[in-house]
Formats: sequence, structure tokens, C-alpha cells
Amino acid sequence: MTQENLSMTIGGKSVDTAARLDVRNPATGEIFAQVPDAGETELDAAIAAARAAFPAWRDTPWAERAEIVSRIGDTIAANAAELSAMLTREQGKPGEQAQFEVMAAAQWCQATATLTLPDREIEAGPGRRQITRHVPIGVVAGISPWNFPVVLSIWKIAPALLAGNTLVLKPSPFTPMTVLRIGELVRGFVPAGVLNVITGGDALGPMMTAHPGFDKVSFTGSTATGRRVMQSAAPTLKRLTLELGGNDAAIVLPDVDIAETAQKLFWSAFTNSGQVCVATKRAYVHEDIYDRFRDALAEVVAAMPMGDGSQQGVALGPIQNRPQYDRVKELVRDCEAQGHRLIQGAAPEGEGYFVPATLVDNPPEDSRIVQEEQFGPVLPLMKFTSIEEALAKANASDMGLAGTVWSKDAEAALRVAECMETGSVWINEGLALSPFAAFGGRKQSGIGVENGVEGLMAYTEPQTFLIAQ
Ligand code: NAD
Repeated sequence: MTQENLSMTIGGKSVDTAARLDVRNPATGEIFAQVPDAGETELDAAIAAARAAFPAWRDTPWAERAEIVSRIGDTIAANAAELSAMLTREQGKPGEQAQFEVMAAAQWCQATATLTLPDREIEAGPGRRQITRHVPIGVVAGISPWNFPVVLSIWKIAPALLAGNTLVLKPSPFTPMTVLRIGELVRGFVPAGVLNVITGGDALGPMMTAHPGFDKVSFTGSTATGRRVMQSAAPTLKRLTLELGGNDAAIVLPDVDIAETAQKLFWSAFTNSGQVCVATKRAYVHEDIYDRFRDALAEVVAAMPMGDGSQQGVALGPIQNRPQYDRVKELVRDCEAQGHRLIQGAAPEGEGYFVPATLVDNPPEDSRIVQEEQFGPVLPLMKFTSIEEALAKANASDMGLAGTVWSKDAEAALRVAECMETGSVWINEGLALSPFAAFGGRKQSGIGVENGVEGLMAYTEPQTFLIAQ
């Protein structure tokens, strides 16, 4: 199958539309493919298919559903070469990182398939039994973003299906292809209507969240859109999981190994050219080591080749799309206008959406680059004197997704970590996500969690039975 004729999956069948959506390669700016542009008719058909499939899927034994979820993972792994090349082309990330994302998606399916939600016996007094069971919610709308289109879609597919729901999944219009292809690849063994994949332009997301045919929306994207999703889900009181933006702080204590930490912190901030919800987006470095740490990080930045992700040896790719490119460029321009010192790596010229990897040397706390989520390869480094000061600044944010603490003294780092107001805190590692650990944002970084038993539970509702003998 060529990339030009990918189709949607609705009710287990291939569905196309006369309207088409262009797909651009962000490394070149060229339109290289088109995909279906679904409207109300296709959305209604997908919901009807999911609704029709729900009773039988709900009643399918857990172990059989787990088997199918695991098989989705096997299928993704078996097609990793094709999927990761497609992912690089539409998303821009370097080949090795695309391969990593695809394999992570496969592993996530296999890991999620091992989870269970046993019934709970609850004390109810003599002659009575009380049981709480986790029952599926029904038909779920999954909406995913463009930074990790495959893995973030799988974070919805695997638990939704395992728990017995049926799903209509919509990837971002900027990165629709790899997820459409996964829909095609699993058509042969996922029962018709259980997993529907549809693609469309900007109108399709709001149409989904407002549609009375969905029982739950699982949304990953920006905080601004998350607010709109919540509003639009209100009239029918849809269940919601919102995984939103972050402005994750790193706190670097003075006892770190500077070279090693600079290397690790670089990847925590610049993986996927900074387009990671849990990327380090501001780093507070103790004043005793600030200059040496900044210089070590600058060396790492200088050594990282940026370019078209389909070329060998490229470490950093482009920004995924034009609006985000304009936004990141605007933040860099603001740094320049404010007179902040910038330390920049090299970036290719041309039509691709490349922004050089950039360190911003000790900008003031109230500058835009510190206060706003940049979602690009630009990292502000700030000097701190006391841990209390670093924590106060790290926590002075409406966001609360994740954070990191860096120190040779793990106990001291843990004490700092415990004071961070975020859903996850990682010590001496960045981006440390696990299929077995609950992940979610505090404050305006989200509502609810994905992954782990808690993430699986979010695709169920408790139903309590009382049996009097
Ligand atoms: P976005 O909010 O623009 O879009 C996300 C998805 O929502 C896309 O599929 C889009 O088509 C759809 N959408 C847009 N408007 C909608 C509406 N009104 N109603 C329903 N759906 C709508 O986000 P993005 O630019 O694709 O992604 C970047 C953002 O996502 C960043 O802020 C990042 O931090 C966040 N993010 C969060 C997580 C997390 O797990 N917390 C993971 C990845 C990205």
C-alpha cells in the first residue's frame, strides 16, 4: 500500500472521503501525501459502528481482549520499519527516534495487556456480600497530538480496548498517517467497530467532543484546547481524561557530575526538538556550578546535528508544523528583543521548519521564555542560590505536569522532589515514563491520569453489587 491511499477504519472497513487533507513533510515544507478528511457523516458512521460493537466487546472475556491488545503490539513491532519511516516523514523526528517511538508503542500494548482490574469484595455484614466491579464506560473518543502521534494514540487504544470499551480515534491533522496505517494493519483481527480511526481537519475534534454518541473523551493536547474540550463535554457530562501542556522545571543541585548531567539534561529538554509534553522547559542550576554547567550544556548543543530526520546521523529534527514553528521563532525573537544572551547550535537553511537548539543564559524569571511553554528546542537556564528559591520558582506555575531533580545524593534529591507540585518527578533522569506508572498533570496540566492501573481504571466506572443471602 502506498502512502497516498491510506484509508480510515470504520466498522472494520476501509473508508475514504472525496475531501482530502494535505500532509506536509516538516523537514522540507512539501506536501507529500493526502488523507481522508472526515465530516459529520463519517463521524456518525464511526460512532454507530463503535456503539454496535460495544455489547459483544464488553462481554468478551478479559483474557481475550488482552490477547488482542497484545497482538496490536506485535503487529506494530512487525511493521516497525514501515511505520517509523512514515512517522519520520510526517512528524520530522530522526529515524532512530521514530523507531524508538514505534517500538515503545508496541511494548506499551504488550505491557498494558498484562494489567487487570479484579473485583473487590467489600465488607457488608452478616448474610450479605458486596462487590465492586470495574465496568467499561462505552464508546470513547480518543484525540491525540502531533508530537508523539503513535505512542500517545496507543496510550488510548490499549487501555480503552482492554477495559472493554470501543473507540473512535482521531490523530492530529498534522500527523495522521502512521495512526491510519496502524488502523489498517490491525483490521484483520480487531473485531469490526471496536477500533475506528478517522482523520479530518480542525472542525472534526470539536465535532467529536460535542457529539452525544460518546460516553468519554480522552484528550491529549494543549491546555487551551483542553479547556474547550471540557466545556464541550459538559452538556452530556462525558467522562474526561485531559493530558495537557507543561512547563517542566529541572532543579540541578551543586553536587552533580557536570558533564554527565549536562548530557542527560540535554536529552530531557531537546528530545524531539523539545516537542515533548514532559520535556524540561526551564532549568534552575545552582549558582556554584552555573557557569560550568551552562558551558558543558553548550558543548552538547554544539555537537548535535540538526536536519532532515530521514538522513543518517541526524540528532534533532524540525519543528513539526508551521504554526508551532512561528510560535517558537517568536519566543526566540522576544529573547533577542529583551537582550537575553543566546547560545545556539547550527540549523539547516531552506524551507524546513528548523529552529536551532538554543540555550537562553539566565533570563529573568518573568520573561516569556520562562513563563510560557515553548514546545521547541529552546531552553532557559536560570541561576539559583537556595533550594527554597528554586522550588518556589519551579512551583510558581499554572502547570504541573512533571519535573526533575539532579543530584548525587538521591535522598536529598527526593526531599526536593517531594516539594514539587507536579504529577511526576524524576530524579537523575528525564522523560521516565512507564506503562505501569500513573502519569498525569496537576493544576492546569490535566485531569486524570493515563498508564498503570489508575490509567486503566479511567476507562471504567465502578459498579457495586449487593447480594443478600
Ligand atoms: P492541540 O491542542 O492543538 O491539538 C491536539 C488534538 O486536539 C489534535 O488532534 C487536534 O486536531 C485536536 N483539537 C484541536 N482543537 C480541538 C477542539 N476544539 N476540540 C477537540 N479537539 C481539538 O495540541 P497539539 O499542538 O497537537 O499538541 C501540543 C500540546 O500538547 C502541548 O501543549 C503539549 O504539552 C501537549 N501534550 C501533552 C501531553 C500529555 O500527556 N500531557 C502529551 C503530548 C502533548
